[in-house]
Amino acid sequence: MDNKVFFELVHSYRENKLAHAFLLETNNPEKCYNMIRQFLKLINCPKEYKENCHDCNLCHLIDTFSLPSLITIYPDGINIKKEQILDLKKAFQTKPVFSKYNMYIIMGAENLNASSANTMLKFLEEPEDNILGFFITNNKENVIDTIKSRCQILLDYYETNSSSLINDDYYDIAINYIVELESVKIEALLYNKDVLLPIIKDKNTLILIFKNMLFIYQNVYFSKLNYEKLNDKNDKVAFLLKKDSNYLLKKIELILKLLDELNYNLNLSLVIDRFVLESGD
Ligand SMILES: [Zn+2]
Repeated sequence: MDNKVFFELVHSYRENKLAHAFLLETNNPEKCYNMIRQFLKLINCPKEYKENCHDCNLCHLIDTFSLPSLITIYPDGINIKKEQILDLKKAFQTKPVFSKYNMYIIMGAENLNASSANTMLKFLEEPEDNILGFFITNNKENVIDTIKSRCQILLDYYETNSSSLINDDYYDIAINYIVELESVKIEALLYNKDVLLPIIKDKNTLILIFKNMLFIYQNVYFSKLNYEKLNDKNDKVAFLLKKDSNYLLKKIELILKLLDELNYNLNLSLVIDRFVLESGD
């Protein structure tokens, strides 16, 4: 992983100087989120960690968003609600079973209001050794002071030129596939067989298509959160803005899971059919 903040975190960890809460300002919340998950794998992995460890159960649980001691909180509507923080506290009353730490990641930390931030304070003021927290924001100036002043602040910026990933051909395929998937589910299986599979030359083609889909869904998700219009390029999927944010998150998680599965599963047809079936409800 070629990320400065990632290595800063690893360094503090190795020096035994890891803070218990971090505020990360970033221009790409999803990349930042994934970087943190890689870091959490590294410090919890019971084996000798190597980049993208897929051998151990713990890393696998983190990859598939199923580790109970790692909780991600997204804004529920405009705010992060007090109840969400109370649930987090409750979940962390017990020591973690599989991992070294109880860990939380707060996305859109600028959406913590006074009441949810106050509920958060106990974690920040009486840090227990085994609790580790990350607040992710697009602008630290909008994060409430009670949180900001108690976190180590890190800037996690990514180059915005993503030309290697966003190839127009794959982008168009991805957007058409989303339109198909979101309209008629039954037809989507036929679409897999008749349209998608013939285009897919190899696993990498499929990975590129799904990375573009991920990019599109994330774009819609963050536009929705920020009440922004979609850029013209995504016009075809503007109808997704009407879906609720949990629906969009579920899609994002499903695509991340699929991308992860592609690391071991070589039956591409099976992978995309299961994707269609799992995304239907
Ligand atoms: Zn591992």
